Amino acid sequence: MSAALPAVEPPRTAVPGLDELADLVADGDVLVLSGAGLSTDSGIPDYRGATGSLRRHTPMTWQTFRRDPRGRHRYWARSYVGWPQMAAARPNAGHSAVARLQRAGLLGGVVTQNVDGLHQAAGARDVVELHGGLDRTVCLDCGDVAGRAELHRRLRAANPAFGPRVDEVNPDGDAELPDEVLDGFVMVDCTACGGGPLKPDVVFFGETVPRDRVDGCFRLLEHSGSLLVLGSSLTVMSGYRFVLRAAELGIPVGVVNLGPTRGDAKVDVKVDAPLGEVLPELARRCGA
Ligand SMILES: [Zn+2]
Repeated sequence: MSAALPAVEPPRTAVPGLDELADLVADGDVLVLSGAGLSTDSGIPDYRGATGSLRRHTPMTWQTFRRDPRGRHRYWARSYVGWPQMAAARPNAGHSAVARLQRAGLLGGVVTQNVDGLHQAAGARDVVELHGGLDRTVCLDCGDVAGRAELHRRLRAANPAFGPRVDEVNPDGDAELPDEVLDGFVMVDCTACGGGPLKPDVVFFGETVPRDRVDGCFRLLEHSGSLLVLGSSLTVMSGYRFVLRAAELGIPVGVVNLGPTRGDAKVDVKVDAPLGEVLPELARRCGA
């Protein structure tokens, strides 16, 4: 016969850094900056994330999109095929946790590098899309902004027989297709001006984030008590500069990311663990 073991107070957490992170977030006025790692649990691959997995082709650059009609045509063909999967993506537990933190009044703002709209789908408000959003298009000639869903309907009508299957969609909505298939795609143009080329309303690689958008984010940061980076390795300056600015301003920085980030030497709290586990627990501890 063995006596029951005495009850042992469980440790507060098995995740290093989570206690400190919860203390930071509970203080409120948190500016969230999210990246691709937040959306991987929603089936959108993090092509620059900790796994280091490489894409099979390089992402579209602004230079190619703007100067090369053939490259633009192929972008739209891939994007057309990948769109249903992008449109079907649903927010995950991490997005929901961010929305709960916001409803609890703990966030001073939500800035995302993601173009998938999943923060908003989870209920977050006033989300600043640093790199734009795939749910709309902009005309390169007249600047008209239109809904992507409507474009997809027009493309379906123009491409009744174009429907190859793909097993992977990249975060910019780009899908894999052989060139000979891409050439058979029919693109449509802007209806507002009657012929201008369309661009997804996102910031491409090699393209600059609009200055007023960046300045707005800096103002949010200046009024924040802390910066919380979620699911970004901070490899691109468009996100990393907010960590640098926070350090200049003496604003503490927390990071939740699976794997190392470029900002690790500059952050105050780092939690290296899956976001889908950490963020719901973080929200719970903060009473959200
Ligand atoms: Zn136009």
